[in-house]
Amino acid sequence: LSTTFLISRRARRDTSSKSARLHSSEIAVNKIVNGVEGIIGNTPMIKIRSLSEATGCEILAKAEFLNPGGSPKDRVALSMIQMAEEQGLIRPNTGCVIFEGTSGSTGISIAMIARAKGYSAWIVMPDDQAQEKYQLLEKLGAHVEKTRPASIVDENQYVNLARRQASEFNSGEESNADHNSDGVKRRGFFANQFENLSNFQAHCNGTGPEIYKQTDGKINAFVAGAGTGGTIGGVSSYLKPLIPELKAEGSRKRHQVDTVIEGVGLNRLTKNFDLAREFIDDAIKVTDREAVEMARYLVREEGLFIGSSSAMNCVGAVRVARMLGPGHRIVTILCDSGQRHLTKFWNDDYLIKHNILQQQTPPIDVLSGS
Ligand code: PMP
Repeated sequence: LSTTFLISRRARRDTSSKSARLHSSEIAVNKIVNGVEGIIGNTPMIKIRSLSEATGCEILAKAEFLNPGGSPKDRVALSMIQMAEEQGLIRPNTGCVIFEGTSGSTGISIAMIARAKGYSAWIVMPDDQAQEKYQLLEKLGAHVEKTRPASIVDENQYVNLARRQASEFNSGEESNADHNSDGVKRRGFFANQFENLSNFQAHCNGTGPEIYKQTDGKINAFVAGAGTGGTIGGVSSYLKPLIPELKAEGSRKRHQVDTVIEGVGLNRLTKNFDLAREFIDDAIKVTDREAVEMARYLVREEGLFIGSSSAMNCVGAVRVARMLGPGHRIVTILCDSGQRHLTKFWNDDYLIKHNILQQQTPPIDVLSGS
């Protein structure tokens, strides 16, 4: 497992009015917002006291698990759907279906927003993710397809399968005059979070500016795991031009499959990551075990019950704090809650069975930063 260091060399910020419109406006908590989309974004920033005291740095975490769909992917799903509407690719309440290949979080966000806006969701996922995600997707009314975890070059890899099923849906619609007889075109839209730059823009126009505002721009490092690369890419592209000395750091796991940390691990160069690649400076390895120990530590010390990639990010943040030394401020992301990981990452039997924990092993020191 590894954490990638990113340093910006030059500004790469999309300031077009179109993309600026896509990010969530500031939520006034005493006002009424318009539907579930109105509570996406503008998440609080938490100071993690125990990690801050132990390292002498201020370790701050953006509570993205408080988004209504439980992760930062709400921002991404909303951004991709709004852009598709603007481009005339989909229209609400016309039988349009949004297809996506996902490890779960993006699918859940798409399913939620699809319900709110009058679309159907068709979600393709690898079959080794935590059960809670499939259950939630079904409750949200999504059609869920499971496929074996496979390499990106495999035609049945979950992203490839979602792409193909969207295109099969569209060719079926073309040849089925009945569906189109009312003059309304049902369309399948493949959202494609890995390559769709609305993902990057959601973070460049939303998450990044929020972090800047919440910290008054006083940050020394930013740490985030990379799945699509949208978070690390979008946030660092926004922050780096404003804070040139910032270290923007992403975390990656070594294996793309067979690890308990879900949602991260780039196994190819995505467009969303590529946009920020020029910022990448270095990488640090983080093991599954360290993430597990960090998650348990944060419940004990902070009452923070977080998911696997969030715990990995916190390990990365401590590592960076140790490298920078006391007196620095580090921001990371808490992507989702532990509730989404009860049957795997938070299940001791599962972890012992997969040799991530041993029955008798004493806890490791999550604060050592080594
Ligand atoms: N954490 C979780 C739980 C995720 O689902 C993802 C994305 N799949 C990430 C982190 C990584 O975020 P990004 O795609 O923006 O790199």
